[in-house]
Amino acid sequence: MTKDFKNKLSSLENYSMEIFGGWLVNEEKQKSPHFSLRDEEQIVHLVVVHNISLPPAQFGGGYITDFFLGKLDTKAHPYFEEIAQLKVSAHCLITREGKIIQYVSFDDKAWHAGVSSYQGQANCNDFSIGIELEGTDDIPYSTEQYQALSLLTKALQIQYPDIKNNITGHSDIAPQRKTDPGKAFNWQYFIDCLKYR
Ligand SMILES: [Zn+2]
Repeated sequence: MTKDFKNKLSSLENYSMEIFGGWLVNEEKQKSPHFSLRDEEQIVHLVVVHNISLPPAQFGGGYITDFFLGKLDTKAHPYFEEIAQLKVSAHCLITREGKIIQYVSFDDKAWHAGVSSYQGQANCNDFSIGIELEGTDDIPYSTEQYQALSLLTKALQIQYPDIKNNITGHSDIAPQRKTDPGKAFNWQYFIDCLKYR
C-alpha cells in the first residue's frame, strides 16, 4: 500500500457509508427488477466479490447498469445479443472511478451468484451480498475501486455483523463455472485496506 493511499484512507477515518432500509444513503440508486425477497429468518453473512465489463474488457458506457436493469440495447454490440435475455443483478457496482451504484436492497436477494456453495451452504444468493467491480480477471483494479470496496465492506460488516470475515470471490463459491474477480484482484491489498478502515 502506498503512503499516499494510507494518508487518503486515514483522512477518511471518520467517514463511513450510511445504510438505511437496505440502501446506501449517499450513493446512486438504480433499482433493478432482478431480485427476490430473502426469507425472514435468513441472516446475511457473506460478501461475494465479482467483476464485469460490457462489452468485455471495455470500461465506461453505462452498459452494466442497463444489463442489470434488463434494458441492454442488443444493437449496441454483437455480444449484447447473447446476454440481453439473462436476468441477473448485483447489489452494487463499483466503477473504475470508484463510484458506487446500488441496484438491489441489501435486505433482498440480488441474482449474482448462480449455482454456488460457501462452506457447505448452497445457493449463496440466499445469504450473501454481491459486489461487482468494473473490470476483468487480468487488468489491475484501480486504487479508487479498492478504496470504495473497503468502505462499502466496512459499512456492510457493521450493518450485518455476521459477515465478519466471510468475504470471498465468485470463483471460490462457483469454481467450476467462474473465474472472477480473477488474478488481478489483490486480496492482500484489499484486506490491508479494510484494516485501515
Ligand atoms: Zn461473478
